[in-house]
Amino acid sequence: MKYRSTRGGMSPLLFSDILLEGLAPDGGLALPETLPQVSAEQLEAWRKLDYASLATEVLGLFIDDIPREDLNRLTQAAYAPGVFDSPDVVPLKPLYGKTSLLGLSQGPTLAFKDMAMQFLGQVFEYVLTKRGTTLNIVGATSGDTGSAAEYALRGKKGVAVFMLSPHGRMSDFQRAQMYSLQDPNIHNLAVKGVFDECQDIVKALAGDLEFKSAYRLGAVNSINWARIAAQIVYYFWGWLRATSGPGQKVSFAVPTGNFGNILSGHLAREMGLPVAKLVLATNENNVLEEFFRTGVYRPRSAAQTHATSSPSMDISRASNFERFVFDLVGRDAGKVAQLWKQLEQQGEFDLSELKPQLESRYGFIAGVSTHQDRLKTIRSVYDETGVLIDPHTADAVKVAAEHADPDTPMLVLETALPVKFADTIREATGQIAPVPAHLQDLPSLPQRVQVMACDASLVKDYIRQHAEI
Ligand SMILES: *Cc1c(COP(=O)(O)O)cnc(C)c1O
Repeated sequence: MKYRSTRGGMSPLLFSDILLEGLAPDGGLALPETLPQVSAEQLEAWRKLDYASLATEVLGLFIDDIPREDLNRLTQAAYAPGVFDSPDVVPLKPLYGKTSLLGLSQGPTLAFKDMAMQFLGQVFEYVLTKRGTTLNIVGATSGDTGSAAEYALRGKKGVAVFMLSPHGRMSDFQRAQMYSLQDPNIHNLAVKGVFDECQDIVKALAGDLEFKSAYRLGAVNSINWARIAAQIVYYFWGWLRATSGPGQKVSFAVPTGNFGNILSGHLAREMGLPVAKLVLATNENNVLEEFFRTGVYRPRSAAQTHATSSPSMDISRASNFERFVFDLVGRDAGKVAQLWKQLEQQGEFDLSELKPQLESRYGFIAGVSTHQDRLKTIRSVYDETGVLIDPHTADAVKVAAEHADPDTPMLVLETALPVKFADTIREATGQIAPVPAHLQDLPSLPQRVQVMACDASLVKDYIRQHAEI
């Protein structure tokens, strides 16, 4: 299995080669040359597997430069009992009618990003050890991604993490979660600035090519192919748990920001998984809902991006969307390159001539959920079922209900636990979101964080002193 760029300007590479890279050299994103196909018989044979073994099977289709027994060791470690707070790793939780939650938030940071990051941590360590090299991950976070990366990479050999966060601007829970890590290879840098300034520092470091190569800087952003591949596994898992025989269809509803999660669902469907609909839910930042409604893709500026009560979906442009557009335009890399050039020059592109295919060929339907919708949905789900859901999951429950079909199971991807967004839960229901038992003492743990002025040269100095070399 070789990988190419969505824009055609990269010679074919193996999985391990693209693992540690960000964008392809031509500015595009890596994708497998051909998508592996899974037959109905194969799917039935997978019913008896546990989550880690299923991950070996699915990921094995995309990775042929890691021996099968090694890959199996990595998935067994990533999805081990004890890492996830459920014996199933990903539990299916019936809600009402044919609608269930697919529980992707049982990992160490209580959000779905753990699903891919835990595998990424294992496979990074494996590839770096094999190559006898090291990597220093530099990132900026306002919450979910940074903590998932830290929990996945803590204590791993050959890799250090430098995570910038805006000083004093994260929730108590998020701070406690990240700053309580005591592993020597995890460095929390609380920058006296806002999130965008943290991100500007990361960009400045990545743009300093001499510094970048001297300290082998890397990233774990949402365009990383290994993350997308690892997310494909739970669509197969969800289908296997929600059906009893071949050919039965299932729909998925996905709270969407950067289009990473639902892209994995699209790829699972293209691999032959019997998926009826892929229901894409956005919050007030509806750039993707607009595309699926009109065929016009019109990213917003930072100033036009709303801060909402489902903050992990507050995006202006959807970084993984290019991979879907590649399929939509018939896997024509020249066309993708042209569209993104147009995007740069005119700020939008128009694929409305392909709009009819979005639902009929690819199964996509999209909808928007607002703050009032979130509150109403959290409250009504709690009143009807006694289950508390987080605001992101609520966005998807709301849009899923608009497209429910009485004969088809609808799996709503639960992307975070309510305790992470306790204020909104209280606003909606008056309830205090429960803290999982193993995190009861989190607020009282000692915290380890370096506070620093908003200055790229200070961050550089810190990395010079603490990098893995
Ligand atoms: C990251 C995130 C999302 C959005 O996922 P994308 O892959 O960016 O579409 C939704 N909900 C939560 C809780 C998240 O952390």
